[in-house]
Amino acid sequence: MHSSLLAINSIVGCPNGCKYCLLQATNDNNCLPKELATPKEAVKQLLEYKYYDKDIPLCLLPNTDVFVNPKNTNYLLELLG
Ligand code: SF4
Repeated sequence: MHSSLLAINSIVGCPNGCKYCLLQATNDNNCLPKELATPKEAVKQLLEYKYYDKDIPLCLLPNTDVFVNPKNTNYLLELLG
């Protein structure tokens, strides 16, 4: 939950190692992405979340790079579906 949006953070981590990355704080900017929930599980949790509203903006997968590998990209496509 952010001030004006909800984020789906069901993948964490990125191997690109950018020095300016916010993921540096948790050492997640230099590792393979970890899937914490399937797309279906993530959507289910979102819809059940007490602060969810159909009009609230969603930020999808901000704790990874969704285009870093085919697995992440396919995950995004399934999540959008
Ligand atoms: S998430 Fe983005 S900024 Fe962070 S290491 Fe990956 S590509 Fe770089």
